[in-house]
Amino acid sequence: MPETIFSKIIRGDIPCHKVYEDDFVLAFLDINPLAQGHTLVIPKEEVATMGELSDESAAAIGRVLPRICRAVVAETGCPDYNILQNNGAPAHQAVFHVHYHIIPKPSPETGLGIGWPATSFDHSQGAELAARLATHL
Ligand code: 5GP
Repeated sequence: MPETIFSKIIRGDIPCHKVYEDDFVLAFLDINPLAQGHTLVIPKEEVATMGELSDESAAAIGRVLPRICRAVVAETGCPDYNILQNNGAPAHQAVFHVHYHIIPKPSPETGLGIGWPATSFDHSQGAELAARLATHL
């Protein structure tokens, strides 16, 4: 995978406002926040999308993500937030190094705006689809 700006941030070649760091994970403030406290949580492992991430890095992020969410809530005073994780350019990924966004939602106008074009569920195909999906695990 070609190196991204996040690799430079991990190495300290370019600065960031660091919130948390351990051997596997780095968290820092997003440079173009959707709301005050918008934080990025990234693995140090250099992979583009979630499906490529090792179990070790995934577990390391999973361990600290709730703590970082609590810190964002405590500091901003905003109890509401979204966690966003984009994979692929059509899915709005701009930096091709896995990352979670923690985005406070202090008001209807601030934070993440979500389009949610829900469709109706086809129960006749549901069981078969779930079974097929499970075969890929
Ligand atoms: P994506 O659309 O890939 O999920 O989001 C990438 C995020 O990385 C964007 O919210 C963008 O503001 C943030 N970002 C891009 N470059 C930098 C940078 O150099 N420093 C920081 N702190 N954030 C960045």
